[in-house]
Amino acid sequence: MKNDTLAIKKQDRSQLNGFSFNEIGDDHLFTSLDTPMKENAFDMSDSEKKERIEILFAEIMDVLGLDLTDDSLRGTPKRVAKMYIEEIFSGLDPKNKPKVALFDNKYQYNQMLVEKNITFYSNCEHHFVPIIGKAHVAYISSGKVIGLSKLNRIVQYYAKRPQVQERLTNQIAEELKAILDTEDVAVIIDAKHLCVSSRGVKDDTSSTVTSYYGGKFNSTSKISELQNYINQ
Ligand SMILES: [Zn+2]
Repeated sequence: MKNDTLAIKKQDRSQLNGFSFNEIGDDHLFTSLDTPMKENAFDMSDSEKKERIEILFAEIMDVLGLDLTDDSLRGTPKRVAKMYIEEIFSGLDPKNKPKVALFDNKYQYNQMLVEKNITFYSNCEHHFVPIIGKAHVAYISSGKVIGLSKLNRIVQYYAKRPQVQERLTNQIAEELKAILDTEDVAVIIDAKHLCVSSRGVKDDTSSTVTSYYGGKFNSTSKISELQNYINQ
């Protein structure tokens, strides 16, 4: 019964957007703006999740043939479980979303504000290996401004999920638009995917650039102004 359900699911997924299952994996296409989550994603507490992951990860290591009684490996399942829940996938849980305070735009600064070179570490949802990159975010105030460190925190929150770069770009943009109550938001991400550089085609030098230009940023002059700031 369980296997039947799995088979049907796979078939459904293989028809997504007309791409085959394999194509989606290899080309890193994404299928929705929201991270696909189960409805009951938060029924388990964090400590229950850590206990389960510890058991399951030990199983993976065991299947690989690793000796879990070895002093160096013994603690790995527990460490991985803690790291998944508390660090690298902590952005799946809305309770970890950064609280953002807005301030009045007292200086009446009405040009673009650019926060560039925000380093982030994420993980590819198709291979669970790192995506390492830089995000540049910009907005034009609609009357409110946000603390600069919060721009960084929003990037980190969405990076700490299994991701695809296109979705990460759009999720950051959508969050900024909602918080700042404006369409005038831009996000550019330049990142290296370890699943590309260390496996598969083994291309060590390429990086992937994605961008979102909303509202006033959707003009050639604003885009080139923004790119000038970023390239400085
Ligand atoms: Zn990948």
